[in-house]
Amino acid sequence: MTTCALPDVEAAAARFEPLPAEEVLAWALDTFGSRLAVVTAFQAEGMVILDLARRLDPDVRVVTIDTGRLPQETHDFIDQVRVRLGLEVEVVAPHAAAVEAMVLRHGPNLFKRDVSLRQLCCHVRKVEPLNRALRDADAWVSGLRRDQGPSRAATAKVEHDPAHQAVKVNPLADWTREQVWAYVDAHHLPVHPLYAEGYTSIGCAPCTRPLRPGEDERAGRWWWEAGADRECGLHHATPSERFDGALATLGADLAARDRRAEQSGLRLAT
Ligand code: SF4
Repeated sequence: MTTCALPDVEAAAARFEPLPAEEVLAWALDTFGSRLAVVTAFQAEGMVILDLARRLDPDVRVVTIDTGRLPQETHDFIDQVRVRLGLEVEVVAPHAAAVEAMVLRHGPNLFKRDVSLRQLCCHVRKVEPLNRALRDADAWVSGLRRDQGPSRAATAKVEHDPAHQAVKVNPLADWTREQVWAYVDAHHLPVHPLYAEGYTSIGCAPCTRPLRPGEDERAGRWWWEAGADRECGLHHATPSERFDGALATLGADLAARDRRAEQSGLRLAT
C-alpha cells in the first residue's frame, strides 16, 4: 500500500504542475525515501532523471528491466554509466519459465505476428518484471513526456498508479525533447550510442529501428503496427480480449508444466 492516499496524489499533482523537475523529485524522495525507485531504460530522459535524483540522494534506488532482447549497445551503455557514475543498478529480468513457455507456444518472434502476441511478449518481458520490482515500492519515477504522443498527452507530474498500488512521479512530463537534450548537453551526461544512428526511442532490438525523415519520435517502436497505440504496457495498458486470452493460455501452459514437474518429482521455479 502507498503511504500517500489518492486525494493527496491529486493535490500533489496540482501543486507540482507549475514547478520544476527538481522540486518534484525532491518532494518524492522526501515523501517516499527508500520506498521510491527510479525506473529507467537509460534513454536521454532517464539520464536526466538519474542526474537530478542523484544530486538529491546519491543512494536513490535505480531499477532497469533486462528483457532478454535488448541490443548489445544498451548493455554496454549501462555498464558505462554504472562505472562512470558509480551507480548501483538493480536489474530485473523476466521469469525464465514464462519466456520458455511463451516461445514454445508462439515462437521467438511472436511480436511480429499479432498485436496481442506483441502485448504478451511485452507483458512477460517487461510488465511482469516491473510488477515484481515495485512490489515493495510506494512510488516510482519515470521519464515520460507529454509530447511523446497521444497516449502520454495527459501525463501528470504526480499520479496514482493503480496497477502497482503506488504513486507514479513524472518530473519531465512538461519537458520537450529539446529541453531534455539541452540538459544532457549542459551537464555532459553520457548518451546511449544508438542515438547517433538515428534512433529517438530505444527499446528491444527486434522492435526498435531508427527514424525515417518526417516520422514522429516513437515511430521506430513496433513500426509494423501502423496506427496502433504503440505502448508496451509499462505506462498504459490497452484493453484487448485477444491479449487476455493469450495471457490465460500462457498461465495454463505454466500450470500444466508445473503439474508435469510435480508428477516427475521435480520442482521448477516459476
Ligand atoms: S519490445 Fe518486442 S521483444 Fe521487447 S518485450 Fe516488447 S514485444 Fe518483446
